[in-house]
Amino acid sequence: MDLDRLIQDRIRDVPDYPKPGVLFKDITPLLADHVAFAGVVDAVVNHYGRGTVDKIVGIEARGFILAAPIAYHFGAGFVPVRKKGKLPSETLQATYDLEYGTETIEMHVDAFGPGERVLIVDDVLATGGTARAAADLVSRGGGEVVGLSVLMELSFLHGRDKLGNLDVHSLVTV
Ligand code: 5GP
Repeated sequence: MDLDRLIQDRIRDVPDYPKPGVLFKDITPLLADHVAFAGVVDAVVNHYGRGTVDKIVGIEARGFILAAPIAYHFGAGFVPVRKKGKLPSETLQATYDLEYGTETIEMHVDAFGPGERVLIVDDVLATGGTARAAADLVSRGGGEVVGLSVLMELSFLHGRDKLGNLDVHSLVTV
């Protein structure tokens, strides 16, 4: 099975989660399959090439799972972007709109050296609000955003429209 089909096969649709009307893409079957998981990590590293990135930013929480092995295989460091109140040291914050209310994410203010090249990694690109806020945090923290890499892009939610000219790499688009 090629990687595209393997990924699609291992992502489970869960209706009405986390609330009625939402079809949630559950990546846990993919993570539990070592061939699929390794294939995803290798595909991201091969797309950009080792040595092209200094830091990988992972977005809490599923982004962490993908970003850590990707950082290891890139030979890059790992930086967490977390929900408000979870990081212990001084942070930068970004707030963005959800369907109902807002969400705030944070990153340590000293996460990067000047001009470090940063790839942002998450599992799913949906409306793009999270990725937009993460990219803004990286820029404000002195990093140079090389791109955003996601396992799956939900193109019907038009997340790219929020991301301007940011390079978006998605392994699967639905
Ligand atoms: P956005 O801000 O683009 O609307 O939502 C993206 C964020 O919400 C990502 O951090 C992602 O983990 C999470 N997310 C939204 N929808 C889904 C989904 O269907 N499946 C998974 N696994 N994550 C989702």
